[in-house]
Amino acid sequence: KALEERLKKSIRTIPDYPQPGILFYDITTLFQDPEAYKLAIDHLVERVRPFRPDVIVGPEARGFVVGGPLAYALGVGFAFVRKPGKLPREVVTAEYEKEYGPDSLAIHRDALLPGQRVVVADDLLATGGTMGATVDLVRKLGGEVVAAAFLIELAHLGGRKFLLEEKKVPEVVTL
Ligand code: 5GP
Repeated sequence: KALEERLKKSIRTIPDYPQPGILFYDITTLFQDPEAYKLAIDHLVERVRPFRPDVIVGPEARGFVVGGPLAYALGVGFAFVRKPGKLPREVVTAEYEKEYGPDSLAIHRDALLPGQRVVVADDLLATGGTMGATVDLVRKLGGEVVAAAFLIELAHLGGRKFLLEEKKVPEVVTL
């Protein structure tokens, strides 16, 4: 409860961004607040630890500032999921639907080994589209997705149900 209050205070909400009708959760203020950032990551580390990941995989850009520290704290590697054209070596890609049409994400073909236990991580779960594509990428490389982890969940957008039921992610954890 104290954690929840502390984090709520450190996240700004911006009405009508990036378009009318959207309430945007601005987490830059959470990361600007050293105490809140540490508290949030420390808690998420303990939520993720029981899944015993071999690798953390996070989509750009905010998935890096959540997934990177998670990987470091758990003593495992981190793999980058990026927009196409950003990774220098051979990639696999996955398509997904955004609000205004299709988009895609990419990962290096050698980013992880078949059979490795993977926790996928991002700052915020909305519809689950971004994480769904990230999960697809991990599976294309033969990785086993054991959980998806987020700091924040916008529960009314149905991302948890999408990941659990459509994408067969075994567990979705948030703070
Ligand atoms: P989804 O793919 O689940 O619909 O959207 C989640 C992705 O979009 C995440 O990568 C997240 O960083 C970004 N995103 C969507 N809505 C918000 C928001 O309100 N605040 C922040 N910080 N990120 C958002």
